[in-house]
Amino acid sequence: MAEHESLEFGKADFVLLDNVSMEEFMANLKLRFEKGRIYTYIGEVVVSVNPYRAMNIYGRDVIEQYKGRELYERPPHLFAIADAAYKAMKRRNKDTCIVISGESGAGKTEASKYIMQYIAAITNPNQRAEVERVKNMLLKSNCVLEAFGNAKTNRNDNSSRFGKYMDINFDFKGDPIGGHINNYLLEKSRVIFQQEGERSFHSFYQLLRGAPDSLLRSLHIQKDPKAIYIHCNSHMNFSCINDGADFKAVADAMKVIGFTGDEIQTVYKILATILHLGNLTFGVDGDVTLIENTKLVSVLRELLSTKEENVEKALLYRTVATGRDVIEKQHTTQEANYGRDALAKAMYERLFCWIVSRINDVIEVRNYDAKIHGKNTVIGVLDIYGFEIFQNNSFEQFCINYCNEKLQQLFIQLVLKQEQEEYQREGIPWKHIDYFNNQIIVDLVEQQHKGIFAVLDEACMNVGKVTDEVFLQGLNTKLAKHAHYTSRKLSPTDKSLEFDRDFRIRHYAGDVVYSVVGFIDKNKDTLFQDFKRLLYNRPTSQLPCICYFWCPGEYTPVVEEHIVAVYHHYSRKHWLVYKSTLCCSVQEPYYVRCVKPNDVKSPLLFEHERCRHQVEYLGLLENVRVRRAGFANRQTYPRFLQRYKMISEFTWPNHDLPSDKEAVKRLLQGCGFDHDVAYGKTKVFIRTPRTLFSLEEQRAEM
Ligand code: ATP
Ligand code: MG
Repeated sequence: MAEHESLEFGKADFVLLDNVSMEEFMANLKLRFEKGRIYTYIGEVVVSVNPYRAMNIYGRDVIEQYKGRELYERPPHLFAIADAAYKAMKRRNKDTCIVISGESGAGKTEASKYIMQYIAAITNPNQRAEVERVKNMLLKSNCVLEAFGNAKTNRNDNSSRFGKYMDINFDFKGDPIGGHINNYLLEKSRVIFQQEGERSFHSFYQLLRGAPDSLLRSLHIQKDPKAIYIHCNSHMNFSCINDGADFKAVADAMKVIGFTGDEIQTVYKILATILHLGNLTFGVDGDVTLIENTKLVSVLRELLSTKEENVEKALLYRTVATGRDVIEKQHTTQEANYGRDALAKAMYERLFCWIVSRINDVIEVRNYDAKIHGKNTVIGVLDIYGFEIFQNNSFEQFCINYCNEKLQQLFIQLVLKQEQEEYQREGIPWKHIDYFNNQIIVDLVEQQHKGIFAVLDEACMNVGKVTDEVFLQGLNTKLAKHAHYTSRKLSPTDKSLEFDRDFRIRHYAGDVVYSVVGFIDKNKDTLFQDFKRLLYNRPTSQLPCICYFWCPGEYTPVVEEHIVAVYHHYSRKHWLVYKSTLCCSVQEPYYVRCVKPNDVKSPLLFEHERCRHQVEYLGLLENVRVRRAGFANRQTYPRFLQRYKMISEFTWPNHDLPSDKEAVKRLLQGCGFDHDVAYGKTKVFIRTPRTLFSLEEQRAEM
């Protein structure tokens, strides 16, 4: 059915398995992976296994084979899903979205790029200039986003450290006329610290390895610098990453997108500023905190185009309100270190957001007519950071994994809901299938008053000194009985909980032990106002884009700073998940479920247990069951006739029955398949795959 390959490649759709068991599912997945068939369907869901090698299946010729075809007419492919989303958008005037999920390194970002390439390739047959421009921008933006938002982790050499939801807008002809990128919660802590074996964002290494000497000199950076923030040592060279070449590619892409020369220079200056900030150390002389390497201050002054005293003051003092007075309070060395790191992280985050907004400026729908008249439909592509478990897991992993819980919840709801709705719409009875519903874990995190976020936010709002330990106690009190939560205190004999600071969440994708250290700080995300003033005030900092990093009015009266910081973060955190899931829940979703075959990036190794675990938590088996308990296949009557009319004398070459529905009935009765199908209002539903097989066979014999 789904393809005209021989069975030597396994079943192209898991609904065709003889028995829906884990063994059969895994055997099929493995066989297909080994035969180089990395895509397999579950109905309209694509299951993809990362091949970890270049596949010759994305070329122009392959694109042509998928263009305008139905899902089942060609071997399973991302292109087929992209085409289905595109067709739904174009024919039925529907907003659609493609949700790509899977753990870190499973292949989500690569998939999102192939999908975009496909859409770019099949549109704009008339070569309209504006459409070509938009397509070019959309494709070029990936390279820039990855340079600033991706990094090497221990799971993936090119790991996305931000969530991305990209909308592509189409006009009534079905050509892309614009787009918009939403980015979610960049993992900015990476700017100041990386775990053993990991790197900071690619952009830093690209600058160091790719920038011409003159540029580095002007940034006061040596070719082989000691940059504390990025552990700049030799083992940070990776054969698979070519930072030097990437530097040029990114600079070119930025130019194409329309960044001015000045803006690009500013970007480099900010990267350099961050590297220099990392080397800044504080000491004490009596009771005075001071900067030890004063030479760096003049470098920072120069890079930020501001006054030397301003830099020093912002790093060493804090303006605070006491009653009616505003005084300058000196930092302790600890506070100064904290402030410096917060500044570095904030600068990078703002830089990233600014880059995204510049990209959005150029891909925004421009054509006024297209906006106002005619329909304007959207295909969204959601690619977020995958579920991850590290040796040490902190607030960042907690947010990332929570986000994945939400996505899984969305999948459960929509796959079930859609199926149910379709049967209802077509007037066909439906039998319920049980799922593991991860709503309980979503609640654990986000429930009002007693969820983890609520406890955390409450702790952060406290005016007194609240420590991570106090927060952990709060969790232990509120969540002691929760089946998916435990901690060292609650389970003292549990070997996986090594330290007093540890707590564990039983996620849908596995157990993760989090260290509570840093949760309060990271959630508060305080950046001293003095820094914002330093960078925002036009007369102080002359850089062309840095002033835009902080919108006017964002830096607030000193006393309110704390509250605003908490509020800001709180709302952003929630916004992250709401936006990403909301966008997709109002549109017609298509799913790509990515599986990572091994942890060593090998094209040959299919680690059975590793894959089985993913199949299990992604709920793929239940997905097959739902698909089969209902009907393995459904097609509209005209479509069905078009494909099979040659096998019946009643329908070949044309039928004279009152409707296509009647004609399909007649055809299926004639073949003896009437018992295995149900006739909906607009579609025929075929229960067992075998029936479809026979139809295909008969068709082939004609
Ligand atoms: P993260 O959640 O960490 O961002 P991800 O799911 O986005 O992970 P990718 O960056 O897409 O993972 O893929 C990881 C690596 O796997 C790629 O850099 C590439 O080497 C390889 N890879 C993924 N998909 C393919 C593919 N279709 N063909 C060839 N190689 C692939
Ligand atoms: Mg990615």
